[in-house]
Amino acid sequence: MKVTIFGTGYVGLVTGACLAEMGNHIVCVDIDENKVARLERGEIPIFEPGLEPIVRRNHANGQLQFTTDAAIAVAHAQIIFIAVGTPPDEDGSADLQYVLGVARSIGRHLDDYAVIVNKSTVPVGTADRVREAVAAELAARGGASVDFDVASNPEFLKEGDAVEDCLRPDRIVIGSSSERAVGLLRKLYAPFNRSHDRTVVMDVRSAELTKYAANAMLATKISFMNEIANIAERVGADIELVRQGIGSDPRIGYHFIYPGAGYGGSCFPKDVQALERTARTVGYDARLLEAVEAVNHDQKVKLFEFILRHFEGSVRGRTIALWGLAFKPNTDDMREASSRRLMEALWDAGAKVRAFDPEARGETHRLYGERSDLMLCETAYQALDGADALAIITEWKAFRSPDFASIRAMLKEPVIFDGRNMYEPSVVEEAGVAYYGIGRGRSIANPKVS
Ligand code: NAD
Repeated sequence: MKVTIFGTGYVGLVTGACLAEMGNHIVCVDIDENKVARLERGEIPIFEPGLEPIVRRNHANGQLQFTTDAAIAVAHAQIIFIAVGTPPDEDGSADLQYVLGVARSIGRHLDDYAVIVNKSTVPVGTADRVREAVAAELAARGGASVDFDVASNPEFLKEGDAVEDCLRPDRIVIGSSSERAVGLLRKLYAPFNRSHDRTVVMDVRSAELTKYAANAMLATKISFMNEIANIAERVGADIELVRQGIGSDPRIGYHFIYPGAGYGGSCFPKDVQALERTARTVGYDARLLEAVEAVNHDQKVKLFEFILRHFEGSVRGRTIALWGLAFKPNTDDMREASSRRLMEALWDAGAKVRAFDPEARGETHRLYGERSDLMLCETAYQALDGADALAIITEWKAFRSPDFASIRAMLKEPVIFDGRNMYEPSVVEEAGVAYYGIGRGRSIANPKVS
């Protein structure tokens, strides 16, 4: 089938590549000329496991094209996805300027029927606003008779696993009351449904809310565990044992109950906020969502508090090694990453940072530029060189089994602040390194290992 996708970010590019992989003819359009030029040259602007070969292969065989020309893109397809960003507005609600910008651009060029599909995460009611924006542009050029539908097809892929999630989705939500639109989308997604039908068809508003509900639920699980971790810390319990104790209950399960230094990324923080603002605009005070956000906000400075306490109230002149910069492993995305809050707090307090991340060093450099209090290192162990202490904020697999003896030898004050509970405290301490985890009692005891 012929498909157009507006936006070549994490969602648009992955979706385009995976749909091309199934034999469809995809045109990806972006307003970022530099990004499109790089894609044309076979460069992938983001790090996403497995993405590069699929993009290259399908670009080479003509199944996947890139353009900045909206007219060509709109004329190409009967199915037009909108997969542009919906960042938070000043008040936390979703900023729809990019989505509505695309809608207007579609309206300016649409000549034949198409289903316009919102894949961006958008507040309930956005499909109506997209319809109005397209219709207004059509009317302005005397094209009011051109038929079109607007559907919602929220995206559930996870950065770091995006290609796998896209090729093997656990559900495909289609929000539309148009049989024609649903029929086209069912046909497009048929190759992803061969073992069993994963499609859930619903009205457009329910589909829009489904995406926010999914992210709010996952964020709630994380903040809940962080809250229990903070209690565990104070009552002398070990959250890792508590986690296993509750995860074994199938009604709770092991997924997404890991305590840590807070959630980040391009989705949870903004989506929880946007849902809470949506609720407020319809007269509902979403107290649970407010609490989820508040817990996460505080959790992101947890490691800084531990570091400050360990160094008796001052880190001025200290150097902290930081392992992990990306908001989670297997991505280079730094949006709302906990590492940023930690680094900024350390800099404000007069400390320097020597950081290593397998993929996000380029993005960190793009965000912060050259600065005397940030050294981006080529290896994890290089980051330890001359550092007082080690903080870990992203649970990359490469950090799972470090050489604690080397860490002890290289750090001036052998201490690990583990923002993802990667290590067993007793193992670290036996190696002669002091250890702080999240909700494991160690931060209260404030151990100093001789
Ligand atoms: P992104 O910021 O990585 O990419 C958005 C792209 O849209 C950019 O390349 C930008 O240049 C382009 N763009 C903006 N205006 C445009 C226009 N008028 N025409 C063409 N292109 C335009 O965003 P993303 O992370 O891919 O997220 C896109 C949407 O999907 C958001 O609503 C997000 O909440 C949602 N989402 C993201 C994820 C994720 O893991 N990143 C997962 C599910 C849903």
